[in-house]
Amino acid sequence: MSPLQQVTILGATGSIGASTLDVIARHPDRYQVFALTAFTQVDKMVEQCRRFAPRYAVMVDETAALAVRNRLRAAGCTTEVCSGTEALAEVAEAPEVDTVMAAIVGAAGLEPTLAAARAGKKVLLANKEALVLSGRLFMDAVAASGACLLPIDSEHNAVFQSLPSDYQRQPTVSGVRRILLTASGGPFRDTPVEALEQVTPEQACAHPNWVMGRKISVDSATMMNKGLEVIEAHWLFNAPAEQIEVVIHPQSVIHSMVDYIDGSVIAQLGNPDMRTPIAHALAWPQRIESGVAALDLVGISKLTFERPDFDRFPCLSLAYQALRAGGAAPAVLSAANEEAVAAFLDLKLGYRRIGDVIAATLERVGQMPVDSLEAVLAADGAARAVAREMINRHACTR
Ligand code: NAD
Ligand code: MG
Repeated sequence: MSPLQQVTILGATGSIGASTLDVIARHPDRYQVFALTAFTQVDKMVEQCRRFAPRYAVMVDETAALAVRNRLRAAGCTTEVCSGTEALAEVAEAPEVDTVMAAIVGAAGLEPTLAAARAGKKVLLANKEALVLSGRLFMDAVAASGACLLPIDSEHNAVFQSLPSDYQRQPTVSGVRRILLTASGGPFRDTPVEALEQVTPEQACAHPNWVMGRKISVDSATMMNKGLEVIEAHWLFNAPAEQIEVVIHPQSVIHSMVDYIDGSVIAQLGNPDMRTPIAHALAWPQRIESGVAALDLVGISKLTFERPDFDRFPCLSLAYQALRAGGAAPAVLSAANEEAVAAFLDLKLGYRRIGDVIAATLERVGQMPVDSLEAVLAADGAARAVAREMINRHACTR
């Protein structure tokens, strides 16, 4: 029997982290949890450590780490609890680790995810912002170390499954005409544009098909999520912006497609449940049970498609614009978006101003060059400073 795969989950207490543990729990003969990490969620981390007994638990927040340590000790759990951001990279690159699930939300996931790539791990990438921020650096690190990079984002996982198994990251050589990323259109697909001025965080987070963290839920409502995914697809599959198209598909059953020059379109279908791409990537190239119910096509009965409305979803246009501009623009786009979404969730910025803040930030600092991690972090910092200034200005004029 093959030895147990040692898995580190970055962002274990989030939506993807919990789904990953759900799949792992179904296969104790294959996977062992080496480390779990979180920002501040003490209760969830204690519960996960008691159930999966990892060697390490990392809480970025020191007070939270202390609380987890005390509670685990009292419960007789031997997990070693660490704190601070450096510990995230340490449990990602540790020599005992085979597989790293990168499921921290936002730029905070960049350094540990990059550490896993540099250490040549099997990297299961959910944290799309890391790739958007540092695409070239990240892909170069994967190539240099021989890491195995597998996409968890359902669309990219679907594209990966629909490409030839020996895909050499050259679409034209493989006869690929287009990559078609499907999008649900989120909760505001049919809302009159004028009514969008008034939407609340609760409405924006009420996604019709998926249950996700709050940041990605807002991104799905603005379609910035799809914009980030276009950039993610560019780096993962080495396809130019012109070869990546977005199709609205409200049922979220076709997770994405590859259109070949002979007219064949290969798609991956399934129920909208992240345990499918997680199980696929964990076991690849094998298949394992994920807990997801079989797809009932007759029950669904109808699959529909629409073109995205770029006026309703300006964030999608901004993402294409940033991808075409290159350099720091994607990093600036993502950083400004994180700030704007956080301000929206905090009731400090109107929903419709999210796109305005990102557009203005891109204009101000989108042209910086990026050729190193330091330069990426500098672009991220500059974008956040400008975005915060815009947010404050909008707050004053509300
Ligand atoms: P979430 O908000 O539910 O969880 C985020 C996790 O990151 C938590 O464990 C949290 O403790 C940790 N975290 C947050 N801020 C941190 C920080 N500053 N430092 C260290 N850790 C921090 O998010 P999610 O929905 O699970 O999404 C995670 C990532 O996966 C995102 O990049 C998202 O775009 C991507 N993704 C999610 C889904 C989904 O269905 N939820 C689908 C595709 C891609
Ligand atoms: Mg997705």
